[in-house]
Amino acid sequence: MKLLVTGGTGFIGSHTVVALIEAGHEVVIVDNLVNSQRNVVTKIKRITGVKPLFYKVDVAHEKGLRKVFSEHKFDAVIHFAGLKAVDESVEKPLMYYRNNLDSTITLLELMREFGVKNILFSSSATVYGTPKRVPLKEEDPIGGTTNPYGTTKLFIEQILMDFVAANPGFKAVSLRYFNPIGAHPSKLLGESPSDIPNNIMPYISRVANGKLSHLNVFGDDYETPDGTGIRDYVHVMDLAYGHLLALKAFEFDHAYNVYNLGTGKGTSVLELVHLYEKANRLKIPYVIGPRRSGDIAESFADISKAKTELGFVPQYTVKDACRHAYLFEKKQK
Ligand code: NAD
Ligand code: UDP
Repeated sequence: MKLLVTGGTGFIGSHTVVALIEAGHEVVIVDNLVNSQRNVVTKIKRITGVKPLFYKVDVAHEKGLRKVFSEHKFDAVIHFAGLKAVDESVEKPLMYYRNNLDSTITLLELMREFGVKNILFSSSATVYGTPKRVPLKEEDPIGGTTNPYGTTKLFIEQILMDFVAANPGFKAVSLRYFNPIGAHPSKLLGESPSDIPNNIMPYISRVANGKLSHLNVFGDDYETPDGTGIRDYVHVMDLAYGHLLALKAFEFDHAYNVYNLGTGKGTSVLELVHLYEKANRLKIPYVIGPRRSGDIAESFADISKAKTELGFVPQYTVKDACRHAYLFEKKQK
């Protein structure tokens, strides 16, 4: 297939581009580099032997994106582009709604105009709000998001549903990611935010490499076995293969479809710290602190739908991801 990948130089996008190229797909990347770097394209070439075409374009800018659509005939779009920092979204909600919604709407308008009928969208487990039960199933209620970032995901899912209902022949698939972690085993691609990381894995990796003094554990008084928050950590390469498999869903009858992508297993913050220590034979100093506002106690996926319908079976362990994340961070300045 010939695929347009928005946000393809970002963390999940770049790993997915590798998986797509290795499976023989042709990829064109569009990214405005607001949270990634152009040299990722060269790194993808070092891994796969193929340099994907890259356009530095803001997906919300109709003119720039139109040029890309007029120069290529795509079979499908994978839409990763978006802002994703939860705290920043609370401080700057309009920036998040403007960027994430405008980019999606502009993209869908051009897809309709150019007859590109299939879209895979990066959604998130955050759309489930505070879960009433775990593991989370796709049919569980969504809503009650606790920050504007999460609300953009919820709104975009609704926009996609309405769009495919109004445009026969168009298909949309939302992939609800749980907690992507790790890095490419080559150490060339990974997650290294320019600021102090918000997410736990890049934070631990900075502590492990001596760039931060200790991890702050956000609360040990949750109703979980060790009191710390439980999440479903999935290796980014498994998530990347999940996208490859999800392309199959365009052949199914549903105009709109949803899949959870996680591992189906929950890991607590302290379990993650201990796995990281074992994987890399080092110590992670940590301090137990207060809860982070908006955090939930427990979230992990039921992945049986992705397994049955797409053949999605994660191959890497959390410990593998800890090893890869550490080695990637070690290579960063
Ligand atoms: P990332 O920030 O590394 O990648 C997103 C990319 O989109 C970046 O390269 C950024 O430069 C680009 N971008 C942002 N706005 C753009 C715009 N208007 N036009 C063009 N490019 C733009 O983030 P990621 O972790 O790779 O996440 C990818 C997608 O998955 C995002 O939509 C994110 O919300 C979603 N997601 C991520 C997680 C996670 O924990 N990482 C979890 C659930 C969902
Ligand atoms: N967490 C933590 N310290 C940190 C960052 C995160 O204890 O510095 C905890 C957080 O409370 C949650 C888990 O780690 O229980 C995963 O948080 P992250 O921000 O990585 O992902 P989220 O599930 O919030 O999207």
